[in-house]
Amino acid sequence: MKFCPCCALPLEPVLYDQVELDICRSCGGVWLDGGEGAIVIGPAGDPRLWERHGVILREEPSEHLCPVDGAVLAEVILRHGRDEVTIEVCPECRGIRLDAGEGARVQSIVTAAIQESPQLQEPGFWSFMLQAVSGIPIEVWNPVRRRPWLTIGLVVTLTVVFLVEFALHLSFGDAITERILHQFGYTPGRVWEQPWTLVTYGMLHGGWLHLVGNIYFLYVFGDNIEDRLGRKSFLTIYFMAVIAGALAQHLVDKDTPVVGASGAIAGLMGAYLVLFPRVKVYVVLLMARLKMRVLWYMGIWVGMQFLIAAQADGEVAWMVHLGGFFAGVMCALFLGRRGLDFFIDKQVRTKA
Ligand SMILES: [Zn+2]
Ligand SMILES: [Zn+2]
Repeated sequence: MKFCPCCALPLEPVLYDQVELDICRSCGGVWLDGGEGAIVIGPAGDPRLWERHGVILREEPSEHLCPVDGAVLAEVILRHGRDEVTIEVCPECRGIRLDAGEGARVQSIVTAAIQESPQLQEPGFWSFMLQAVSGIPIEVWNPVRRRPWLTIGLVVTLTVVFLVEFALHLSFGDAITERILHQFGYTPGRVWEQPWTLVTYGMLHGGWLHLVGNIYFLYVFGDNIEDRLGRKSFLTIYFMAVIAGALAQHLVDKDTPVVGASGAIAGLMGAYLVLFPRVKVYVVLLMARLKMRVLWYMGIWVGMQFLIAAQADGEVAWMVHLGGFFAGVMCALFLGRRGLDFFIDKQVRTKA
């Protein structure tokens, strides 16, 4: 049995995210065995990264002993700018002791600090050229813990649907494309006759570029959301954004059918902003690469939607984007509260 380094009371094992955590019901602290931090907090909870990227401000012996091997725990201050958090780490087994609420602080401080790390390798020349031509962003640092199978599945699904659409078009010409658009595209004025189109429009794409662009953004932002919130919440956000995007279109145009996963992707962007506000992306502007906080990036993106709206040629369903984005933000605000700290807090309170 392990004992809390602070209270000397027995730690209670509880299962979280397939990991057995040791919780102290008296102080609300948690003990993470070596390696568990990187699973329950995410990659930012890996002590090896703190050293490599210079996140550690100070490290000195604490008054407590490791509950696993009895070594003197080190008091470690992690810092980014004025933001600091003090935790305890075992120099022997790399176990971590966190006080109540510190999981999210570690995550946010380490993530923010690594964005600035000189140890990071910038994407190479060809990515630069690709970014210059296409305007796509590249995440500076936001790895995932597991392969994002659901995101990959969605990428495959959207591609297959497009290929089928394309094959039908090749065989039967414009008539079939028109029919697909009529049957499965979303026309606000016909929602009562065709309620399924609220979802199906999000599976169709009008062309290769539309599809490839959406898939790229889906993968870049989707993998982290799936990793952080799990598949159920990811799907909730995805489909809420699809539907919200469709409904938002009622405000501007009731007669033209829309297609594309852009509403869903915009929802993922909104959710990403809420969940990872301190991540930065590389963007290429006027042939210069710069790092931009995701907050700015998304802000500019939202502004662009209004610019597109002002041009009003009807090519881009900007209102679908805004509706999806807003839904993503709201869903993530609601779903994103659940995390390590929320879980421990609940555990400690239920039995107290
Ligand atoms: Zn305790
Ligand atoms: Zn230890």
